[in-house]
Amino acid sequence: MKKIWIGTSWKMTKDKRAAQAWASAVTPALIESEDTIQAFVIPPFPYISQVAESFSNLPILIGAQNMGWQDQGAFTGEVSPLMVKECGASVVEIGHSERRAMFGETDETVNLKVRAALKHGLTPLVCVGDTAQEKKWGVSIESVVRQVKIALFGVESHQLAQVIIAYEPVWAIGEQGTPATNEEAEWVHLAIRQALQQQYGQACANDMTLVCGGSVNLDNAEGLLAQPNIDGVFVGRSAWQAEGYAELLSIALRQRSK
Ligand code: PEP
Repeated sequence: MKKIWIGTSWKMTKDKRAAQAWASAVTPALIESEDTIQAFVIPPFPYISQVAESFSNLPILIGAQNMGWQDQGAFTGEVSPLMVKECGASVVEIGHSERRAMFGETDETVNLKVRAALKHGLTPLVCVGDTAQEKKWGVSIESVVRQVKIALFGVESHQLAQVIIAYEPVWAIGEQGTPATNEEAEWVHLAIRQALQQQYGQACANDMTLVCGGSVNLDNAEGLLAQPNIDGVFVGRSAWQAEGYAELLSIALRQRSK
């Protein structure tokens, strides 16, 4: 049976001390849930090594929030896949809507980064999502499937098990976001699964991990995790406090024991 993926990105929040406190506080809950849950945390770059050290030998993956696709060179301000790995991360978040909207990330650069991550043995966590306007126009599925297909262009079926897709409606993310209902979220996850099935076959599509994000919280996580095509949740604000993250782990454990 697949593990349930429960992860958080801290975005540009926390300082060194808060990072340490979070790591210490979630440790017991991580140990308790390790057979059932694949936990992951994505700190800001400067704290990756520290968080990776705090969690060494604990059942949680560490990620980076972005990376460049080149191995090295004159790319001021970029961080290469090799550097990400050396800091202790094994996951890399690619194409978050904030990066697409504010930092010029495109489907094409997302694809370059996905391929670079795979080349270096990192797990790309590919974020895709429809905007409010696309939802209004009735093209959510088209938009999301297009993003998925371009992100995976050139990725072979044997590499798919190493990729995670996070469906995060842009209209659901952050303070102003409205969480997707269970039905809305499942509808898009199913469409992603079907698109993967067409391209890579049923077995690969079924094995692939699809997680849901965008204002996931302690009230709606259980319903989302009960959906057949949702393999986990990717959470921002509600998991920034260790208690919130630990509670999400408990919710997932309860969900699995039903
Ligand atoms: C996100 O930005 O990826 C996210 C899930 O944030 P939040 O849960 O705070 O909406």
